[in-house]
Amino acid sequence: MNKYDVIIIGSGIGGLCCGSILALAGKKVLILEAHNQAGGVAHSFSIKGYKFESGPSLWSGIGKWPTTNPLGQILKLLDEKVELLKYQGWHVSVPEGQFNLEVGKEPFRKRIDLLRGDKSVEEWDSFVSAIKPISQIVSEIPLLSSSPETMNFLKILKLATKLLPNLSSLSKLNGGFGDIVDNHLRDPFLRNWVDLLSFLISGMPMHDTNSAAMATLFDEWFEPESYLEYPKGGSESIVKALVNALKKNGGELIVSSKVEAVNFSNDIASGVTLENGSKFNSDYVVMNTDAWTSRKLIPREFTKKWSPKAKNINKCGSFLHIHLGFDASGLQNLPIHAIHVDDWERGITAERNVAVFSIPSVLDNTMAPKGKHVLHGYTPANEPWEIWQNLNASQLSYKNLKEERCSIFLKSLRKIIPDIHNRIEIKLLGTPLTHEKFTNTYCGSYGPALSAAQGLFPGCTTPVKNLLTCGASTFPGIGIPAVSASGAYAAEKIIGKKEYKNLLKIIDL
Ligand SMILES: Cc1cc2nc3c(=O)[nH]c(=O)nc-3n(C[C@H](O)[C@H](O)[C@H](O)COP(=O)(O)OP(=O)(O)OC[C@H]3O[C@@H](n4cnc5c(N)ncnc54)[C@H](O)[C@@H]3O)c2cc1C
Repeated sequence: MNKYDVIIIGSGIGGLCCGSILALAGKKVLILEAHNQAGGVAHSFSIKGYKFESGPSLWSGIGKWPTTNPLGQILKLLDEKVELLKYQGWHVSVPEGQFNLEVGKEPFRKRIDLLRGDKSVEEWDSFVSAIKPISQIVSEIPLLSSSPETMNFLKILKLATKLLPNLSSLSKLNGGFGDIVDNHLRDPFLRNWVDLLSFLISGMPMHDTNSAAMATLFDEWFEPESYLEYPKGGSESIVKALVNALKKNGGELIVSSKVEAVNFSNDIASGVTLENGSKFNSDYVVMNTDAWTSRKLIPREFTKKWSPKAKNINKCGSFLHIHLGFDASGLQNLPIHAIHVDDWERGITAERNVAVFSIPSVLDNTMAPKGKHVLHGYTPANEPWEIWQNLNASQLSYKNLKEERCSIFLKSLRKIIPDIHNRIEIKLLGTPLTHEKFTNTYCGSYGPALSAAQGLFPGCTTPVKNLLTCGASTFPGIGIPAVSASGAYAAEKIIGKKEYKNLLKIIDL
């Protein structure tokens, strides 16, 4: 039987970052993936020449250097290049009206002026000045080199003294973003807008979303020269780059291999057993699975010691999805992204109130056949699992419920493409059951609903020696930049601080 230094369960972006860094450091790595392709929620699939995305669509800070984005830093470390297409505009449809909005400082100020007047612009300016020192601290201390264990508090303190008007603001770094909003924004539109962006990032409202993460993002999106990025060829290109880095340094990836259990020898993790009975041995095991799945992979004697207990972890909601392939003829100036909010009063956490659309073929014609567009729409982390859990995909009641609940998509899309119904060539609808099936996530959830107001996500260690975690259930949390950093932290634990530091020197971090 082959013996590995490290086995990673799951090939989400976190697992791939972890594996490729370990392979670069000379470790013999095996990644085992349950699905028939790598990428986790960032995987895509092709039908009739359309490339359908299933997860992330908002990317930024990957193609430039220097960057504060941990994935951008990791790709640089691995010497992997992905072509990033730049764009600036989103289409926004909110109760106040419909408009195209560009990232960058001035476009949003102008929009606020038009919608709400100059007093609200002043509020926004004061808010942006308040978050600036936080994003400066974060950019001076790259996430990649600041796992909770190695965080240099003296350095943070020095910077904080320099950048924050008073030291009490230091606590804001890891608190809820909503507290800063409460201090600066009264205008309901601005408060709703920040709440919406927070929810899109963390799956939770602004008071529960981490300030450091949001401040960094706002800095990226509302700076004078801001732009967004889309990987040419879709998220698959990012996944391919990470898999390539893994393999060129001797690592292996086996898909369609669901791990059933982690194995132990003298209470130390020693390998895994697959559902089909195959066994693989290793010195370390890293679980890129979510908090609930990870706990099921190890015996109760160990989960007993693992805090928090699965039953004590609240979960974010799941997703409704729509995938469309449609006729592009005569459609000018379609946005690559559109956000639709039905009613602010219902709140951004309400079911079927917010829909996000991405039409990557507007920017990248390799994503759809000539003369066609490809679209992925989803309701972000607010579809309750509970109304689907007892249904079966073959039942008529399931099909009817799916059509009914997914009707939000075409209803909102008609605002951008009035005759969308007549253009559709392929239509696929997805529910939390679909999401769970193809991503192997517990209840199809976005991840743990751990409020930033209550503390940080748990770090990558577990109660078991040589058993680690990475991904959206591990510090710093949900989202591509965060899971990339968590993969790096797990790699750091395995190769040791000194060697990890030496690796980061390659990219001057
Ligand atoms: C619809 C959607 C839109 C999003 N949009 C954005 C966005 O625009 N920007 C952004 O930054 N983030 C976005 N996110 C969040 C981001 O994509 C995720 O947080 C991140 O990709 C999760 O990565 P992960 O490493 O935790 O692993 P996951 O993607 O959860 O992958 C885990 C992997 O483990 C595998 N696995 C599970 N159990 C087993 C087992 N027993 N054996 C073997 N393998 C197993 C799974 O099949 C899966 O491949 C979005 C997420 C979704 C769902």
